[in-house]
Amino acid sequence: CGIVGYIGHREAYPIILNGLKRLEYRGYDSAGIALFDGNDIKLSKTKGKVDDLEKRVSKEISTNGTLGIGHTRWATHGVPNDVNSHPHYSNSGDLVIIHNGIIENYEALKKELLKRGYTFTSDTDTEVLVNLIEDIKKSNNVRLGKAVQIALNQVVGAYAIAVFDKTKPNEIVVARLGSPLAIGVGEDEFFIASDATPFIEFTNNAIYLEDEEMAVVRRHKDVKIRKIKDDSLVSPYIQELQL
Ligand code: GLU
Repeated sequence: CGIVGYIGHREAYPIILNGLKRLEYRGYDSAGIALFDGNDIKLSKTKGKVDDLEKRVSKEISTNGTLGIGHTRWATHGVPNDVNSHPHYSNSGDLVIIHNGIIENYEALKKELLKRGYTFTSDTDTEVLVNLIEDIKKSNNVRLGKAVQIALNQVVGAYAIAVFDKTKPNEIVVARLGSPLAIGVGEDEFFIASDATPFIEFTNNAIYLEDEEMAVVRRHKDVKIRKIKDDSLVSPYIQELQL
């Protein structure tokens, strides 16, 4: 399983697609992608291989856009099928998430969200997480990064996630606990991936998130890293990768 993301000045689709291919060695049963084209999210996903995704994308969506996230899934909750594949939308359709790992207490969280009127189209733990983030964001009227942080403090489990909000499409929020997550730092662009192979051809500057850290990568700006538990800022340690 793997995650890839991009925000910057290049077309995101080829970077994400090739990135997913490079992460195939990690094993997976499904693949998917969400791109932001300047107006809306374009999403395509499928059970099967990254090649199957590529075919599907060519029939289903336009691929323009300089922000996007892509995923290969190793199913833990919900059988491998198209609907359970990632990315997953929140109920409003504003947020979209990819996730590697397991939300162990998803049933209790889901119960609460059902009471609050949320509905679910997949059987995944991940769709619970994205709606938990949405619910927190709306009820506390906070930014996406804050909502992700509050949500993750309610979560028991393991994750590498990437999420963005189509109403604030200038940032991607990522976090890690127990699953790897690297951020490639380019010139006015950021790459996100499970390891550096998807972005090594573009930059050899990488930040490896530690467990219990989250980051907000912002277009034309910086990357802000925080500890999920106590909100303290972490100064980014940028490693120069050997080519
Ligand atoms: N637990 C999530 C699911 O089953 C993510 C699995 C993964 O790591 O790809 O959809």
